[in-house]
Amino acid sequence: MLQNDFEYGESSVRIIPLGGLGEVGMNMMVVETDDDMLVIDCGVQFPEYNTPGIERVIPNMEYVRKHRERVRAVLVTHGHLDHIGGLPHLMRFVDAPIYAPRLAAEMIRRELKKSGGRNMANVQVNSVRLERDYRFGEFNVQWIGVCHSIPDSCSIYLDTPQGGILHSGDFKFDNEPMLGLPTDYQALSEIGQRGVRLLLSDSTNAEDEDLAFGPYRCGRALPSNRRSKRTSDHRQFFDPDRPGSDGRRCRVRAR
Ligand SMILES: [Zn+2]
Repeated sequence: MLQNDFEYGESSVRIIPLGGLGEVGMNMMVVETDDDMLVIDCGVQFPEYNTPGIERVIPNMEYVRKHRERVRAVLVTHGHLDHIGGLPHLMRFVDAPIYAPRLAAEMIRRELKKSGGRNMANVQVNSVRLERDYRFGEFNVQWIGVCHSIPDSCSIYLDTPQGGILHSGDFKFDNEPMLGLPTDYQALSEIGQRGVRLLLSDSTNAEDEDLAFGPYRCGRALPSNRRSKRTSDHRQFFDPDRPGSDGRRCRVRAR
């Protein structure tokens, strides 16, 4: 049950998506008050067949650049490139620490190093602990473990002057994950008790009916003579015509 018993503060809170809505990839969002700004994720988009010569597309970061002195932290949900791949560009002009789950933090350090930028060695990349709150300006922030196709994925809960905001990140409810842990339902429930005034959640192909199978079930459904490396290396099987709730649907073909 939601308990919307916040005492709202004076500051208004603005949420500004800079990428990742209505499109796949390039996830980036700003949550801010007049004094403090947080950036959530900063990813890339991969080129389409009709954009030859372009290797990666990054969000338009001009708004953040203009107000960079207000950025208190860059918060990361997980280590997929469509959530961290734009960080080397952002950190050229943002002087604030990055906070990310442990695996994502390691991948970010690698991305920054690879980018070879002169100032990248000075960027502070912190691994977060899930059970604690972090304070950034007017925001209290907590990471919550969720299941996804990469371990160490998180939702982010922001306690703001205008109440609780839950940014779901990429997630699925798969209780038989092949990688990482199931979503932390207990932590989500506790967040619900603290109060969520706004849920930001995006689900690819959510309008499709039926449940999607997790990759574990796909593996089990394969005939044993086909259940070799293909399933053990965690590859998933897709049916592009009938994607499921995470954009993917089990496809099993016996020939
Ligand atoms: Zn992802």
